[in-house]
Amino acid sequence: MKAMVCTSLGKPLELQDLPLPKPSNDGVVLRVEVCGVCHSDLFHARGHIKGTNTPFIPGHEIVGTIYEMGPDVQGFSVGERVIVYPVFTCGICKECVSGLEHLCDKWYPIGWKIEGRGIDGGFAEYVHVPNFRNILKVEGLNPEEVAPLACAGLTALHALYEAQVHPDDLLVLIGVGGLGHMALQLAKNLMNVTVVAVDIDEKKLSLASKLGADYVINSLKEDPVAFVRKVSGRGADAVIDFVNNSETSKIAFQMLGRGGRHVFVGVYGGVLSIPTAFMVGGSFRLIGSFMGTRRHLMELISLYKRGIVKPMVSSKFKLEEANEAFNKLERGEIEGRSILKP
Ligand code: NAD
Repeated sequence: MKAMVCTSLGKPLELQDLPLPKPSNDGVVLRVEVCGVCHSDLFHARGHIKGTNTPFIPGHEIVGTIYEMGPDVQGFSVGERVIVYPVFTCGICKECVSGLEHLCDKWYPIGWKIEGRGIDGGFAEYVHVPNFRNILKVEGLNPEEVAPLACAGLTALHALYEAQVHPDDLLVLIGVGGLGHMALQLAKNLMNVTVVAVDIDEKKLSLASKLGADYVINSLKEDPVAFVRKVSGRGADAVIDFVNNSETSKIAFQMLGRGGRHVFVGVYGGVLSIPTAFMVGGSFRLIGSFMGTRRHLMELISLYKRGIVKPMVSSKFKLEEANEAFNKLERGEIEGRSILKP
């Protein structure tokens, strides 16, 4: 099978011809129909995330059809279209059994390898999913639109739950790219909150306006903290930072109203320095948010079917064009999400 492999961090992906994977007893091999391209794929391949191991096949927003199944797989059949839940867990620890599987200490990812953990992902013609608990049926749904639900949608929905927003809240979204444009739709169409979208790119802000943002701010041209304080009178009830570098995390924290929730999602990386006593009077809540649960992915599929959320796929690439997809993402040229079609 053909696959785009990260053999060396910071170097272009290599097109390789690899043996077709065989399914484990509980596993399935999928023929990949679509794989979304997440900024995390790029960050891992570029060596931006500490601890990333090579070689690995990127891609964790996978929709495909079942090509071969292990003998212990139940409830699925060959040819069915499924989406992959990208967090693999033990299924038996306290976190797993209480519905917090994304916090399982034994978790491992698909589509990147970190500190010795992880399996190959969907930048390939075929992918092995080692446990059928990690696939959900999406028969009859458009694979191009559904694939980005697996991470962009999942992470956005979970982050919104962590932000604990109510309909009369003011929510700020920093970075309205792949994840942010999904969070915006969910915040408006599901939670009905007032949304301020902040970005540094006019095209992303124009998409945010089309998707229903109440206010859009280009933080290169206008001070988002002053703007939010003026609009709300007291600061933001919640901020979700899909960038999360030293600059945006400072902005996010400064714009919080009392009791405000600051949700950290992006992994651009940096440091936030906070006067500790200030936390007390402000009763602020700082929340890191990692992907989401299988339940969140089920909810998203249902929300997509009802037209409440729809990933905006602006660019489609062939498998061999994965490096072009990465370069465009890196240059900030992708609106919404891009996908690979092996
Ligand atoms: P993306 O490139 O599609 O979107 C990023 C957006 O941020 C773009 O619109 C860009 O213009 C904007 N931006 C960049 N710098 C900015 C700044 N200084 N101020 C305001 N806006 C700025 O990326 P994505 O795929 O949406 O991923 C976003 C981040 O989330 C990445 O760091 C990714 O690795 C991370 N991520 C985290 C999780 C998690 O579980 N927490 C899951 C997936 C992705």
